[in-house]
Formats: sequence, structure tokens, C-alpha cells
Amino acid sequence: MPERYQISRQLHKLASQVIPGGVSSNNRASWQPHPLFYLRGEGAYVWDVDGHRYIDYVLGRGPLITGHSHPAIIEAIVSQYRQGQFFAGQTELECALAHKIRQLVPGMQMTRFCNSGSEAVHVALRLARSVTGREKIIRFEGHYHGWFDNIAWGFAAPAEHETRHQGILPMSLGQAASDVGNIVSLPWNDADALESALSVHAGEIAAVITEPIMFNSFWSNILPEKGFLSKVRELCDAHQTLLIFDEIQTGFRTSIGGAQSSYGVVPDMSTFAKALGGPVCLGAVTGKQHLMERLSSTQTIHTGTYNAFPPFLAGALAHLEVITQHNAAALTQIHRLSERLYNGLQQLAMQSPLPLQVRCSPGAVTTLFRHSSAKVSDYRTARQQLMQDLTGRWHAALQVQGIRITPEGLWYLSVIHTENDIAQTLEKAARALTELEQ
Ligand code: PLP
Repeated sequence: MPERYQISRQLHKLASQVIPGGVSSNNRASWQPHPLFYLRGEGAYVWDVDGHRYIDYVLGRGPLITGHSHPAIIEAIVSQYRQGQFFAGQTELECALAHKIRQLVPGMQMTRFCNSGSEAVHVALRLARSVTGREKIIRFEGHYHGWFDNIAWGFAAPAEHETRHQGILPMSLGQAASDVGNIVSLPWNDADALESALSVHAGEIAAVITEPIMFNSFWSNILPEKGFLSKVRELCDAHQTLLIFDEIQTGFRTSIGGAQSSYGVVPDMSTFAKALGGPVCLGAVTGKQHLMERLSSTQTIHTGTYNAFPPFLAGALAHLEVITQHNAAALTQIHRLSERLYNGLQQLAMQSPLPLQVRCSPGAVTTLFRHSSAKVSDYRTARQQLMQDLTGRWHAALQVQGIRITPEGLWYLSVIHTENDIAQTLEKAARALTELEQ
């Protein structure tokens, strides 16, 4: 039988000679059986170089909420590219997009643009330190806020916790150990732990940063406990500590105004990327005017050659137009489809002898295999009794069926998926699960 991913395998071999691991982002290396190479994306589908078509639930890891190659968005990008690429100066597009964000995300009055989510977080943290004159940041275990050294901490296994770097492990070797001195890492969904840390470090904490829905780590789609986010807001106010919501996963997906508008909690600053720009590289930090205005001084600096790159802003405006028109009908449709997919996968899980577990937040579904049915509310409980090997095999089995999800089991929905795609997906998922059961 011919090898299924032969051309991809050869290309990966070639790539590995000149690109470490053959990939430009480490999380692409975990693909089964090796990183695949792709040729084309259109609507809800992508094609790999070996000629297989997939219903795509990876969607660039979330950004492509309008699907692949949306004609109006491509047209906006291309037309701005033709008109002029960038000027190291201002364009009306930048102003229009910042006003649009102000209109869509209640309480977020001013915005600075950058090129990725990691950068947006970096700006927010710098701003928080500049405004408060404090250096420490509280973050939550297992939340991901990008890969930059001063925040990529807090991924420890419980057993290792007590021993290294004051109990907080870095995401990577090569991070300066001195950065951990400014990090306080806490379990999520635990208001008492936060209250106590804010008291222990009274007057030292510049900001608390949190994903409003815990999207990253082993068991994504962990929702905040009832009242947790508003308690965090209250505690931050009591300690004159700024609250940053990292809405890079949830922004323009959970709801147009982000999870903050779903949960009715207004942070001081928020970071957006992914579904803010869709097919273009765009990050943004946005926040209350009196905080953001500090960036207009010559003393708190945020720069970047490609910041607010006009063709990308044109693309982002066209992209937001698609998801906000008709009272955000597109987003309502995405939420309906994610519910439908969730229910269908739940049915499969209930009928299967394998411990498949399914979770959902509006617009995204997670599947993984785990022995325990104990409630998951944070990173440590999420790690317990995971069957990562089976989760990887499930990813590979779905891929053979023409269903593309992330290796860790995230399924992102888009405007362009249809009821028919979901029905087909569920049939194929049933086949993949039967195969795993053999
Ligand atoms: N914050 C969150 C919540 C994320 O999920 C991510 C990326 O997945 C980031 C920050 C980093 O964004 P980027 O990959 O664009 O640098």
C-alpha cells in the first residue's frame, strides 16, 4: 500500500535539513505521524500535498473564524497591497479599526496594534508595570500568554513544583531564571489563593493576567467558576492592581465583545489576536483610556516596524465586517454548530468503552481521553489521569478520516462550516473511534 503522507514526509525531511525540527513553531512538530505540508485552503477545507482533503477544525489554531480564503477579505488585503504596503506613518485604516474595537468591546477605549498575541501581552505587561510602578505579575498555572520570557512560566508538574525556580517551571530551557522573581503563579478558579497572594505581596503586584476561559493546556475549554471573574475584578480593585484579560482565544469567538462581555466583567486591559484579524497577522492591546494614554508619552515605549501594517488592517476590517453583520448572525451560527458538534461527540463518547471526554465553550470543542471523571477546574486537575497517547492516536485516526483537529484535541468552528460538515464529521469521528477501540 502506498505510504499515505509520502510527499509530506519527504518535504519534512528536506525541511529538517534547514529548519530546526522542520517547523517554524514548536507546536507544529507534534503532528501525527510527522508534520504535514499543505497546498490549499478554501472555505472549511484544506488539502495536503499528498492530495487528501480535510474538513478543517484547526483553522490556523483559531484565527480563521471566517474560513479559508474568504473572497471579500482577500480582496480587501490585495487591494490595499496594490495601493501601498506600508509607510512607517499613519493610515485611516488604523483609526477605523481602533474605533471599531472601541465600539465592539465595551469599556476598551484605546488600542495599540502589533503583530501577534505574544507581543500584545508583552505591551500590556509593560504598560501595567509603567502605570503602577510595580514589577510582579500574577498569572495562573497552565494559562498560555505567549512564549516571551517574562510571562512563559507556570507549567509545572505538581511533583516538580516544590523544587525549582521557587516552584514555578519555565515553559522552555533558555529562559532567564531571574524573570521568575516577578511572577506569582496560582491555581485558577481559586479566589482564596488569589486573595491570599495579593495580601502577601501587598503593594507589589502590577497586574493579574488571566485567560477568561482557560483555553490552553491539557484540558482546554475550562470555564470560570460562577462569580470567579468578578471576584478577581473586585480583588484587583481592592489592591490597586490592574486586571488584564488575555482574550486571544476568546475574542471575537466566545462573543463579539470577548468573554468579558459574556461574563459582564470589564478588565483594565485586554489582549486580542487570532479572530481579531482572521487571516492576517494582527495583535492588539486595548484598554481604558487613562492607562493606554501612557503609551503616548516618550517614556513608555511600544514600537515595531510592521505595527498596523495597512494590508492587514484592511483584511481585519473586512473580516470583522463578516462576523459582525446582521447582529453578529455568523457568530450565533458558529455557536449553534459548536453545540451540535459537542452533542454529537458526547453521544459517541457515551457509547464508547474508551474514556473520551468532550467539553465546549461557544465556538470551540475539546476532545481528549482521561481516566478520571472528576471535575476539572484548573491545570493540576486537568493533568490528572490524562491518556495523552490515546489523544494523539485519536488525532491521527481522525486525520485519516479527513478531519483535521489540533494534536491536543481542540476543534475550532467557523462561519463557513455547515450542518452537513458537522453531520459528515460525526460519521467520520464514529469510524475513527471504532478504529481506536479495536
Ligand atoms: N495568549 C493566548 C491565550 C493564546 O492562546 C496565544 C496563542 O495561542 C497567545 C497568547 C500567543 O499568541 P501568538 O501565538 O499570536 O503569539
